[in-house]
Amino acid sequence: MRPFRSRSWPDDLLIVSLSARGLHVKLATLRTWCSNNFILVNLVKTIILIYGKIVSPLPIFRLGTTRISVKTEEKYVGVILRTDTQNMFADHYKAKARTARQCGHRIWAIEDMTGRLRPKELKQLYMARVDCHLIHGCEIPPDSEDMHVKHLCKVQINFLRQMLNIHRHSMIVPLFTETGIKPLQVCRLLLVLSHLMHWLGRSNDMYARAALNSSIELAANSKKSLPQELPFQCPILVLMMFTTIGDIEDYSKLVHKLMLEWLQGEIDSSEKLYLLHDHREPQKDKGPAQVISCMQHYLMVKTQKHQEAITSIKLSTHLLALEILRYVNHGNQPVPRSDRLCRFCRKEVESPEHALITYTSSDEVLQLRVIFLERLFTDLPDLQCQMAELSITELLKAIIYPRSSITLVAKFMYQVLEVFYAVPCTNLMLEASPD
Ligand SMILES: [Zn+2]
Repeated sequence: MRPFRSRSWPDDLLIVSLSARGLHVKLATLRTWCSNNFILVNLVKTIILIYGKIVSPLPIFRLGTTRISVKTEEKYVGVILRTDTQNMFADHYKAKARTARQCGHRIWAIEDMTGRLRPKELKQLYMARVDCHLIHGCEIPPDSEDMHVKHLCKVQINFLRQMLNIHRHSMIVPLFTETGIKPLQVCRLLLVLSHLMHWLGRSNDMYARAALNSSIELAANSKKSLPQELPFQCPILVLMMFTTIGDIEDYSKLVHKLMLEWLQGEIDSSEKLYLLHDHREPQKDKGPAQVISCMQHYLMVKTQKHQEAITSIKLSTHLLALEILRYVNHGNQPVPRSDRLCRFCRKEVESPEHALITYTSSDEVLQLRVIFLERLFTDLPDLQCQMAELSITELLKAIIYPRSSITLVAKFMYQVLEVFYAVPCTNLMLEASPD
């Protein structure tokens, strides 16, 4: 294996030494080489980082006659390194989270000039301007500790919630299933695996491959190394079994498959997300199919407030009594589901099904429903025939699924929700209480 002595860039130089004495020798060699080649070293930007046990007194390092300062933090090729923390990349995670958040704020500032952007446009901006910071350098420090990567995950989740205009208590899983964006930790792990494939494809005399070989050797001897730093989802034993690029490729596919299974499992086990159960996404020129994670068709509705209304219904982030009386607030206990009654008729639970299909006390809603159904059945004549066989929830799902009528459905949902939201929702249990 080639010994690693230095790494040179067009305007940058990295020298590595395992001992203070070795560094003295290398600095003297550098000084001579620079003199012979008429090169001046920028001494202000030249620093020394010491990893591992610090000896006392600290050795003094010089380049020529100038003393070089020893620091605890430096940015090298865009990656922030520290010598005084357990994880030398801890600050890099925080800095990248900060930058990604600022880039997100700039995207929201664009809306001041353009008006509200649609989820598809926001996804493009996210992938171009935010995601690049969230995945920056992820192949160098694998996410061995959740506490660091969670700073980045928080930025991703906040952005996606704002993209769909849903509140901060909303469930996290639909952010990925409805937009087609991968959870950040999975995305970073897949990138690490793709880099492993790249390194394995290099010849043994390349530095990257030599470093990987050295890491695997260290891991085999239970020493701290890249394979041991990989997240728990990718245990070292699995990695050590990888001998070919094909093995890692198979493992990447498995990680992707497990991610989709996890997303689907979370959706299926959630009572709140019942409108996403058994979802079949409409396909162009063919029948609906199960697509666990993609930019869902209802997010393409052009009128923003209509699209937000249907999103709130599907993800249970609406402000009907079923949801807003679910939470404990101001010291009040959550209201049992059966008591989250309609703000108008006070007879049935105020759910999307009730508001959109079974509520009959308001002439305004009835008229909206008649106009809506007339147009819907013109577009989907089969649905009218199936109505008698479907439960109310199944009917609501059947109305939402077709691509051709989604604009009409979203508009109807917006109009009905506006009627409900115009009247405050009250907790009947509190009204009944003498206090
Ligand atoms: Zn009612």
